[in-house]
Amino acid sequence: MVGRSRWQNNFSEWFNEIVQVAEIMETRYPVKGLYVWLPYGLKLRNHVISALKELLERTGHREVLFPLLIPENLFKKEAEHIRGFEGQVYWVTHGGHDRLDIRLALRPTSETAMYPMFSLWIQSHADLPLKIYQVVNVFRYETKMTKPLIRLREVTTFKEAHTAHATAEDAERQIREAIQIYKQFFDRLCIPYIITKRPSWDTFAGAVYSIAFDTLAPDGRTLQIGTVHNLGQNFSRVYDVQYERVDGSYEHVYQTCYGISERAIAALIMVHGDDIGMCLPPEFAPIQVVIVPIPYKDVQAPIEQTCTEIYERLKQAGLRVELDLRDLRPGNKYYYWERRGVPLRIELGPTDHANQRVTAVRRDTGERIHVPLDRVAERVPQLLREIETSMRRRAWEEFRKRIKTIASVDELQNAIHNRNVGRVPWCGNEKCGLEIEERVEGSVLGEELFTEAPKNRSCVVCFQQANKWLVVARTY
Ligand SMILES: [Zn+2]
Repeated sequence: MVGRSRWQNNFSEWFNEIVQVAEIMETRYPVKGLYVWLPYGLKLRNHVISALKELLERTGHREVLFPLLIPENLFKKEAEHIRGFEGQVYWVTHGGHDRLDIRLALRPTSETAMYPMFSLWIQSHADLPLKIYQVVNVFRYETKMTKPLIRLREVTTFKEAHTAHATAEDAERQIREAIQIYKQFFDRLCIPYIITKRPSWDTFAGAVYSIAFDTLAPDGRTLQIGTVHNLGQNFSRVYDVQYERVDGSYEHVYQTCYGISERAIAALIMVHGDDIGMCLPPEFAPIQVVIVPIPYKDVQAPIEQTCTEIYERLKQAGLRVELDLRDLRPGNKYYYWERRGVPLRIELGPTDHANQRVTAVRRDTGERIHVPLDRVAERVPQLLREIETSMRRRAWEEFRKRIKTIASVDELQNAIHNRNVGRVPWCGNEKCGLEIEERVEGSVLGEELFTEAPKNRSCVVCFQQANKWLVVARTY
């Protein structure tokens, strides 16, 4: 799209700049990979968290808060898990002047903090299922280039849910519920996604299998925005989480865990953005409506008076509204609020005033709509709903256009190079998946889920009968 050149062609620079100028984060904190949430960004973050919490609470998850520090002996119990995280852990070695007997890890994730407690909490089948979650910060010593909201050393907004079940079937059912919750969550954020089962060589450390949600940045890289893991009995055996069955015998529980981080907020900013800046879905926008009076000679006082009345009315209707009376030119105000992604602007100039109306301007389309003064309180919430619906539709349209079904490795390379995601027929053999990663400049996201299996197609590598779609892209 022509008007979207910088957002698309220079996305990385656009993103770093908009995060700072739209006052989401202060990016100049003097520790690499750590950033400061600013008031406007923090409001956005809190709206996103409350939507997620609501979905979790509604499905019987209960919120907990575990300590940040995990003793080394507990942390190192699960061998696979520690192999996956060892290179990323920050260690606390001293308390004051004293060297600690047991080093303490800053949690990179909380399995090893929680599951020893699970073994105390879970005694019988009546204690199951156990479904908890927390929203906390986690630390990972990231060695690649860091990026606000995307690649961090302190992930400040890590929602991790952990569940325990009596049977493998219950755990499978929980995986499906988690997927449903995440679908609803990203649908509310108007963020499109593709769901894949991660390949065996890219499964969460200690999991039986991992499922991931990915969305697409304007530069053609995918961003992993949510993960769901089936842990089987891998952790419950190590941490001895057992329950007594009805017949008096004991069995280890079956576990799942699933996480979402502030990458969901990064997705919100990148997916809906344009050259000007952010465009936020009304449910999450810190400010949903901004009112800008356009003063004109002797009607300045009555215009501002009417604007104040509209402000009060919309506030009473429960909207997050701002009245901009600053001594700035209207054009400067428009730009200021557009960058910050406010979904709807209400202008009131002399012509509007003479006609007893306002002009509403949509951030997503730029469309200008006249609304009679006496209908503002009913029409504005309607407009916000329309904005949400069309933002969701447009984001999905753009997303689908860039998922290309492809029949050969060469075409796949081409598609990825042109900022697309490729899906290719695959025999399911690990060797073929790894060979694709070697031959194209992307990574395998995994086997596409919730789609029809390929019919009469051959694997792009070995030409055997294909029974899966493999999704391949450049990734963040
Ligand atoms: Zn093959």
